[in-house]
Amino acid sequence: MHRMAFLNRHIIGIGLAVVSLALLVILYVQYRSLSKLGEALPAARKAAISKRLWMIDDEIQNHYRSIANESLAVSPAIFSDYLADDFPALDAAVKAHFLGKPSLGIGKFFILTMSRSTGKRVLSMYDPHTGGMLEGSPTPEGWAAFVAGSPWMTLLWRNVAATREPDIAPLKMPEIKPDTLVLADSDPDHPIILRPITNEASLLVGVAGLVIDRNAFRDRILPEAIRAGAERHLLGDEFSDLTLAAFDETGGLISSTRPLREAGAEMKIPFSFAFPRWHLGVRSESVRYDQIGRRYLLTNLSLSIFMTLIIIGGSIFALRAAAREMKLSQMKTDFVSNVSHELRTPLSSIRVFGELQRLGLVRDPAKVREYGEYIETESRRLTQLINNILDFSRIESDQKSYRFVQADLTEIVSDTLKTFEVRLLQDSFSVKVETPDKPLPQTIVDPEAIGQVLVNLLDNAVKYSGEAREIRISLGRRFEFATVSVRDFGVGIPPEEREKIFERFHRVSTGLVHDVKGSGLGLSLVKHIVEAHGGRVTVQSELGRGSTFTVHLPVFDPVPQREQTPQNAGNLTEYTEETGIAP
Ligand code: ADP
Repeated sequence: MHRMAFLNRHIIGIGLAVVSLALLVILYVQYRSLSKLGEALPAARKAAISKRLWMIDDEIQNHYRSIANESLAVSPAIFSDYLADDFPALDAAVKAHFLGKPSLGIGKFFILTMSRSTGKRVLSMYDPHTGGMLEGSPTPEGWAAFVAGSPWMTLLWRNVAATREPDIAPLKMPEIKPDTLVLADSDPDHPIILRPITNEASLLVGVAGLVIDRNAFRDRILPEAIRAGAERHLLGDEFSDLTLAAFDETGGLISSTRPLREAGAEMKIPFSFAFPRWHLGVRSESVRYDQIGRRYLLTNLSLSIFMTLIIIGGSIFALRAAAREMKLSQMKTDFVSNVSHELRTPLSSIRVFGELQRLGLVRDPAKVREYGEYIETESRRLTQLINNILDFSRIESDQKSYRFVQADLTEIVSDTLKTFEVRLLQDSFSVKVETPDKPLPQTIVDPEAIGQVLVNLLDNAVKYSGEAREIRISLGRRFEFATVSVRDFGVGIPPEEREKIFERFHRVSTGLVHDVKGSGLGLSLVKHIVEAHGGRVTVQSELGRGSTFTVHLPVFDPVPQREQTPQNAGNLTEYTEETGIAP
């Protein structure tokens, strides 16, 4: 039972501690995994970017690959009757083969083979831009072609020798696929793509090749390819901060999608085929890779903290509502038992006294009168209790109505005291009524409801007087309010309870009033009725020395009478603690 009471009282604190602890643990775990993710993130981004760079490189390289695949698949028949000696016929065949082939970024096409009769190298070079063959002594491009083709010449020479010497066998090569392309860039100004050509007997008959036009590639093909590549592969928010750029072998910028502010790139890959010493790279304009992780961590963590705060706020709200509900339901349970007790006690007294009278056992007229009084007071108490309960339910369902009339407060007080007299006498209470020198102005009130307010205050004064037997009622005026105070010299109310006692069902359950029965409805009704009149109730109390409840009701003639103060209005109530009364 004690443990339950402890839980009930501290439910908000306990609930909040549990929720906060769980959230903190979650937050910590999340922090750990987020920071791990934050570290992994730059690596993942690097991998994603490098994958895209390879795709762009592939598209750039595809330009030369596709031209080479299409143009360099030269028929071995060109090398008429194994190796050519008829040079004009070879030139004509070469020209016929390369005529009309795509030539963007291409300097020259050529065929390199070997003379059967002399064993000398034979170069037949075609210029796709003039549509003519190159004649005379070799140009720098011609020399570059000789150099590029020289590794193949040894093999070719052996095959030429085999045609003359029956002892020498030619060396076979497996059939060469059209996409077997070889890059030869020993002359960096004239990079060359070669394809070896074999005949049907798998013997090498020569090489077909093209000389790359370095300047056309650098100035026209690459910038366009970079622009298109960035558009296709570096789309979306994730990559929007990246600038794509190409750099030559010295690290110099060739082309970029945006002007580069600093030299160099954050991530680079070498070109995979043509220009293998050149690079493709990206640079981030706004963030560095290590910043990405930190930014990610910060964003996510602040989101989580924000969510945690919302959850804690929500929990406080929910827990408070739950605690209030629990308290209310506990109060309702108490209320039922209190009310049953309140009903049973007067009923049994009434029954006993009634039986005594019926059986004629009481003869003494004084006793008859005394028992009659008991029956009367107990019935009044019952009526008051039932009135309270009925009014309470009317207020709860918003059906309580008032009949306001112009009335004299002093009269209401004395009428109420008359109905209460017997009860006060029975318990030998002395009641002093203090009235002001000047008659109080009229008020607009429901006299019955205000009577009920007074009955409740008087009833409480009697119930919570303890050993004291004195009650003082004082009437007065405070600015535009008429006041009625009911003062007792009983148990008093602890400061922390002074607001709560006006809540429905609330009863001070500790200390001196512990065993006084009641419904906990009286003061909430008092407050409701007084506020419905445009007034208010205040309480002053000193523990163990008594309490004063003061009802303030607006007077009918609201002209402020400044000269009249509570002191000269002749009251006994101390106003020192009062607040909130309009001056
Ligand atoms: P009830 O008296 O039926 O319990 P009330 O609403 O009239 O219900 O009062 C609420 C609580 O306020 C009481 O239970 C009591 O603890 C406290 N209280 C009311 N009047 C006085 C008083 N005159 N002196 C001390 N305590 C009081």
